[in-house]
Amino acid sequence: MGCNHDCASCSGNCNGGEIQKLILNDKSSIKCIIGVLSGKGGVGKSLVTSLAASKLAQLGYKVGVLDADITGPSMARTFGIKDKAWQKEGLILPYTTQKGIKVISSNMLLENDDDPILWRGSMISSLVSQFYKDVLWEELDVLLIDMPPGTGDVSLTTFQMIPLDGLVIVTTPQELVSMIVKKSINMAETMNIPLLGVVENMSYVVCPTCNESIYIYGNKDNQEYYGHPILGKIPFDGELTRLVDGGKVEDFNKDYVDELVNQIQGKMRE
Ligand code: ADP
Repeated sequence: MGCNHDCASCSGNCNGGEIQKLILNDKSSIKCIIGVLSGKGGVGKSLVTSLAASKLAQLGYKVGVLDADITGPSMARTFGIKDKAWQKEGLILPYTTQKGIKVISSNMLLENDDDPILWRGSMISSLVSQFYKDVLWEELDVLLIDMPPGTGDVSLTTFQMIPLDGLVIVTTPQELVSMIVKKSINMAETMNIPLLGVVENMSYVVCPTCNESIYIYGNKDNQEYYGHPILGKIPFDGELTRLVDGGKVEDFNKDYVDELVNQIQGKMRE
């Protein structure tokens, strides 16, 4: 009774306690949804999301990016988005980048980029659900969701509400040895979401004089983590920082996320 399919803002306990998946607006269709998760903030989750989105767009796919990191959004800056979100016929219009990627991020709703979002978890989850079901995505081959960091309330609701086809975990070598990444893996396994693998960021540095790759954390040879493949190792790269800060991540063309993109393409073919 009175169900608006927005479990995030509802205290009801319908369907035997099982949270219902959100239903997308009838002007949009999405073939494949991949979540990008990290144990904590600052490890490069948004960077990997934006690099994968750019590569998939270069390959000719119709790509969307949903920035579900509502309190720490970075997609607007990464893609150089200055415009605010508009609405049309009751749906939110995403921003379309130079390469055709459709992006929605909470910064696009704020008057000033540095305004904080001081909301409780249920309000944040409610906005994530709106960003999924009420955005005019039109036809997408793949939607990448930049998940909120960690295994807290908002991540949990996002996992439960959005029909994810797969999940990628981004980590740094130091985080990998802690138990934080294992918690994210356990969460994905408990919720039966297929894990494509782990991307290790800030993995090494390349010596500017001799070009040698230096693995500061001694992580050169690890290829898997608790049975899940490491889908790529990304070095500290000043060019990345410059492009992200300048809102030009789509211009990056090194192969750092190629294996991840292969895996996403595999999921899209399933
Ligand atoms: P998260 O989404 O996990 O909070 P971000 O993707 O926003 O982290 O990355 C945090 C900051 O670190 C950003 O300014 C980003 O440009 C920078 N950064 C991330 N990975 C790298 C890297 N491999 N080389 C250089 N800068 C990086």
